Amino acid sequence: MTFLSRVHFESLLKALGGTHKLLFPVGSGSKSHFTSIDRSDPGSAFIGGVRSVEPLKAFFFSGRERVASGFEPGLPGRELQPLCVVGAKACDLKGFRILDHVFLDHEFGDPTYKRLRRESLVISSDCTDALETCFCTSLDGLPYPEDGFDINLSPVSGGFLAEAGSEKGRALMAAHSSLFTDPSPKQQQERRENREAVLEKLRTIAEAGGTPGAESLKGAVARRYDAPLWAEEAATCVECGACNTICPTCHCFYLYDQMAQGTTGRFRMWDSCLINDFARVAGGENPRSRLWMRLRNRFEKKFDFFPKVAGEFACTGCGRCSAACPGRIDIRRVLRRLVENG
Ligand code: SF4
Ligand code: SF4
Repeated sequence: MTFLSRVHFESLLKALGGTHKLLFPVGSGSKSHFTSIDRSDPGSAFIGGVRSVEPLKAFFFSGRERVASGFEPGLPGRELQPLCVVGAKACDLKGFRILDHVFLDHEFGDPTYKRLRRESLVISSDCTDALETCFCTSLDGLPYPEDGFDINLSPVSGGFLAEAGSEKGRALMAAHSSLFTDPSPKQQQERRENREAVLEKLRTIAEAGGTPGAESLKGAVARRYDAPLWAEEAATCVECGACNTICPTCHCFYLYDQMAQGTTGRFRMWDSCLINDFARVAGGENPRSRLWMRLRNRFEKKFDFFPKVAGEFACTGCGRCSAACPGRIDIRRVLRRLVENG
């Protein structure tokens, strides 16, 4: 572990901005947004705080992407500048783990996603606060990254404690070694205290909301598959799809063809499993014709299917879906009802 002063942090980013497109959280409190900013202005980066409003998936897996042009073999050319994501949180890194399982870790992965993930840098940071909707620790997560980053930054007075988490990160720190100095015992103590304070806040939030732990959620969707809670919870859903689009792990998409610039184009668009047409097939049949079936499907996929195929829940506990839902469907309430037979 080494110390990186705020001034040296900005120097590092200016250097990285020469080879990467820089993405920073800008803003403060509960409302920071990842923004691509000019390398000459790293001073506006807000590192620490809580997760950003939007998930990072949008930068690696576009909401709409042209995937074929006419009958040309191969992918349509698109400028892909490697990204340098700065200030990603532990829950964002778990989001990458789920997307990697879908798009990266097998031969049928997504070429654009693969390239961006392999060529990009992820500089993560500890959370220094928690939102009322956060519940990462209930799903065995932590408010500070332990893996999945190239470099992690823990905010302390005057700068950050920096740790490398990959070969890329170690090489980067070695190449800029003059920027890093030995941390003092006081700075290390400050990091321990910051981390414990956020954990304590998350414990208090989880206790107040009665949020169930990961162990009790295993098999819970299958056990309560026919429970009335699905229809009761779906009663206020307006089928907007916000929970899907804002979720860092939701990854469903559809393909459509369109004439564009004088040639046929095939496009990939994000899809939403809450929307009526999501599972409709040719001939008009729909295996999930009722809204409550679609709500149940979302939980089944995240808390039953993914543990079977990927060994973990496809939920990071970021709470974005609860914050975005106009129907006030709080994922923690649904999970609590699942395990309490409510
Ligand atoms: S955000 Fe809420 S209202 Fe919108 S589709 Fe999801 S559950 Fe339904
Ligand atoms: S389901 Fe909700 S809490 Fe879980 S990762 Fe998606 S947005 Fe975050």
